[in-house]
Parts: sequence; structure tokens; C-alpha cells
Amino acid sequence: MTAMQTRFDRPDRALQRDLRTLVRFIEVYCHDHHGPARQWPTVSLQTHDLHRLAGHDLHLCPECRKLLQHALVKRSTCPMDPKPACKRCPRHCYAPVYRRQIRQVMRHSGRALVLRGRIDYLWHLLF
Ligand SMILES: [Zn+2]
Repeated sequence: MTAMQTRFDRPDRALQRDLRTLVRFIEVYCHDHHGPARQWPTVSLQTHDLHRLAGHDLHLCPECRKLLQHALVKRSTCPMDPKPACKRCPRHCYAPVYRRQIRQVMRHSGRALVLRGRIDYLWHLLF
């Protein structure tokens, strides 16, 4: 484990749940909008252990990879304690382009995972 991972991947249960949710939601969104995962390379980040968070190798298109990096770092460095749902937060720390994208991801993947009966009911506390 690198020093970066020690700093960003704190063993905080709410944080770990949110990081796993972000990975899962962006993975579902990318698969549904940008085609089969196998066409994209395995994503690896210096800041987070994605294999552990996803439970498998993660394949994302370049755009979703950038969004995931932004989202994981923002969530891991959130100074709010307790963290409010992002939509109720006064800070809005996401860059505007990523904020638009993550809202689309949350809407699409939230609905998709509810329909498939596979969702942690706490996901709405995240974004
Ligand atoms: Zn994608």
C-alpha cells in the first residue's frame, strides 16, 4: 500500500461504503452508456485500491475514469463531519462539469440498481 492510499483510503465505514457506491454507480453508468467493459483498459489510480473497492478489475472509458478519480478524491477529502448529502451541502466541491456528470450517473444507476433489486438503501445519503 502506498502513502497516498493510506491517506485517502481511511478505514471509516461510511467513507468505504460511499467509495464502493461511487465505483459501482459509475461502472453501471459506463457499461450502459459507453459499451461493454472489456473494450476499455483496467483502471488503476494512485489514490485508491480499485480492485478492493470494486471486488474485481474495473474497466471504464476514459471519461468515466476521470469522473471516478474526481469523485473518489472529493469524497475522501470531504471536510464535513458528519457529511451531509452532497445536494444539501453548502460547499459544492465538485468542478461543474463533474457535478453535472455525477448527477446523471446517480439518476441513471440509482434507478437501474433499484430495478435490478441490487442496491444499498443508504446510497441516497451520498449524493
Ligand atoms: Zn464511460
